Parts: sequence; structure tokens; C-alpha cells
Amino acid sequence: TKTEKYQPLTEISAIKLVKKLGLFDATEALTAREIGDGNLNLVFHIINDQTNKSIIVKQALPYAKVVGESWPLSLNRATIESNALKQFGAFTPELVPTVYYHDETLAVTVMEDLSHLTISRAGLIQGESYPLLSQHIGSFLGHIAFKTSDFALKPQDKKEEVVKYSNPDLCNITEDLVFTDPFFDIDTNEFEKALRPDVEELWNDGDVKLQAAKLKYKFLTNAQTLIHGDLHTGSIFASSQETKVIDPEFAFYGPFGFDLGQFVANLFLNALSRETNREPLFAHITNTWNVFKDTFTALWHSENTEPFAKDERLLHEILTQTWQDAVGYAGCEIIRRTIGLAHVADLDEISSEERKINAKRTALKIGRYLLLHQQDVSPNEFEHLLR
Ligand code: ADP
Ligand code: MG
Ligand code: MG
Ligand code: MG
Repeated sequence: TKTEKYQPLTEISAIKLVKKLGLFDATEALTAREIGDGNLNLVFHIINDQTNKSIIVKQALPYAKVVGESWPLSLNRATIESNALKQFGAFTPELVPTVYYHDETLAVTVMEDLSHLTISRAGLIQGESYPLLSQHIGSFLGHIAFKTSDFALKPQDKKEEVVKYSNPDLCNITEDLVFTDPFFDIDTNEFEKALRPDVEELWNDGDVKLQAAKLKYKFLTNAQTLIHGDLHTGSIFASSQETKVIDPEFAFYGPFGFDLGQFVANLFLNALSRETNREPLFAHITNTWNVFKDTFTALWHSENTEPFAKDERLLHEILTQTWQDAVGYAGCEIIRRTIGLAHVADLDEISSEERKINAKRTALKIGRYLLLHQQDVSPNEFEHLLR
């Protein structure tokens, strides 16, 4: 659907829009509230307080709020996000919100309200463990990875998909903030004075930087599959029964291991922030990989259209490389969440200053270790890195 021109919505115009779309009757009394916590988008929660029927309206802003209006960002990312949610929904409908409507010009997506769930980062910080989280995310990633790859799509269709999900502005954010800036003395970085010696040691470590450069190059060039692109625990709603992935505005065709690595890193950072009950997080790391591998393997055997795929060694090589890449991407994510522009609350909200600095120092050390030992760290070894 197309409207004539872009305009940021207000609570009033957001209500008008959902009524015009017939999602609510014109006569209903609705309450709208902007609940976005991000720097790039508006998110309106709209509810009829009598019937409790509710809906979410997400709109992309044409700039990043964090640096005022001077950092322009393509509105097309809203269409990419909406397409990705629909695409994910075709494979794993129970793991994403339903999309009701998208308007390309307004950069608006209207979707299912998931307010009965909690953002998993917030819950994990409160000490929740979400027993089904890794089962669900492993399955989500295994399905998406296989079904959007060349092993499931026709070569012509795959190439059209790569074009459809070309997302240069958002990829550029990842390329800078995840892969480049944290490894150099660049002023977007942010870290405590006490960490300065550790950070300088990182900046002077040519071996670690070479690995970061290779992973960045792989991210730039390896269009293996449709990735979410921002799969941290703040992009996942959860409860003890349900898991829902949101916010794929960074979606594009990239390496199999990228989302896995970011998710694992965020589980690890939460474990690092805890004083007790870390075991469920390490179990989640192992289980995410096991479920991913089993899901991908089952689909490989039942749906593979590639003649070469009859040779099991190809599957084995792909899975081995995917995990090794995930370890490297986890290392980059751990480092950038510790000293880069966008931190995680798990570490920043540790109440004791001393414990916080120690946790961040450990994060930097382990991030570097992961980059240097991508071939040697198996999923169940994350637990031992903290000893
Ligand atoms: P951003 O891209 O700006 O980070 P998100 O899609 O992550 O935007 O949404 C920001 C916040 O808005 C989420 O953390 C959540 O609190 C709320 N939100 C987003 N989508 C939904 C939804 N479908 N249901 C309920 N709340 C949502
Ligand atoms: Mg956000
Ligand atoms: Mg978000
Ligand atoms: Mg986002």
C-alpha cells in the first residue's frame, strides 16, 4: 500500500491510521502511547481499553535520533523489516509477530501486540532463564538459514532475494559499529577510564584485528542466507512458554553464523553479569547450536535441491564453518557491546562499580580469545571460559 508522502506519526495520527485500515471501528475509543526505546524508530501501542484489543504500529524515522537529525538512514529498512517478518513467519509462524499491514511511503508496519511477553534481555537481567528460549531460537535460525539458502531456493530466486534484501545503510552501521570502530581509537567508542589499558592492548593486537577484518570481509561478501542482522536478546520477546523474534530492520543476505554468534554473545554477556545461576545460560548456548544443527540437518536431508548435497561431507563442512564463524562473530559482539557505541544493560547496570569493571575486563579478554580461537571453542566450552 502506498500513501503520498512520508510524515512521522503522532499518537493521534497513528489512531487515525489503524481506524482507516479497518483494524478498529471508527467509533471505538482508543489510547495510543509511544513506547519505542530505540534510536531509529517510533513504536506506538494502541489499545481499546474496554475490549483490550490492541495493536503495534512501528514507523522508521529518516535519521538516527542518537546523533540528532544529521545521520540520515534509509526509510526502506521498514519495508525490509516487514518483508523479513513475513518471510520468517512463513517458516516459523509461532516465533514472530503477525504483520497486518505495511506502508512503504510512511515506512509503517502494523503488527501483533506482544506486550503480554517480556523483552528477554530485561527478563534475563531479572534472573529469568526462559527454559524454551534456545529450543525456539535454534529452530528459528535453523529454518531460516536452510530455507533462504541456495540449498532450498532456485538460483534465480535466491539472487532476486539478495537484491530485495540489499540493506546498505543498516549494514554500514554493523560494519562500523561491530567490526571496525571498537578495534580502533575512534570517538564513537565509549568505555570507562579504568578500561583504557585493556582497550589499548586490544587496539595494539594485530592478530585479533586480522581476525576481525576477516570476519568483516566475510560479512560483506558471503551471501549465504537471509539473516536477521540484529539478533540480540533485546530483539526477542519471551515468556516461559513463548518466544517471538522482532526488529529485523538489519536483515540482509549474510553468513550462516552471524545471528548465531550475536545471540550466543548476548547470552554470554548476561551470564557474565550474573553472580549466581549462570548454568541455564550456558545450557542455552549449547542447546541453541544443537537445535540449529539438527534443524538444518533434517531440512538438508528432506528438502535439499542441490545435486552435490548427496555428499555428507559438504553438510559437515558447512556446519563446522558455521560454528567457527559464530564463535568469531560472538567475539566481535562481546567486544563491541563492552567498549563500542551501543552497550548492553546486562553489563552497564551491574550495581557495584568494581564488579562492573571486572566483568567488562573479562568480556574484553574473552572476546579476544574467541577471535583468536575460532577453531577450538565448542559450544559447551563457553562455560569454562569464565573459570
Ligand atoms: P527498534 O528497532 O527501534 O529497536 P523494536 O522493534 O526493537 O524497535 O521495538 C522497540 C520496543 O518497542 C521493543 O523493545 C518493545 O518494547 C516495543 N515493541 C516492539 N514491537 C512490539 C510488539 N510487536 N509488541 C509489543 N511491543 C513491541
Ligand atoms: Mg531498540
Ligand atoms: Mg530493537
Ligand atoms: Mg531495530
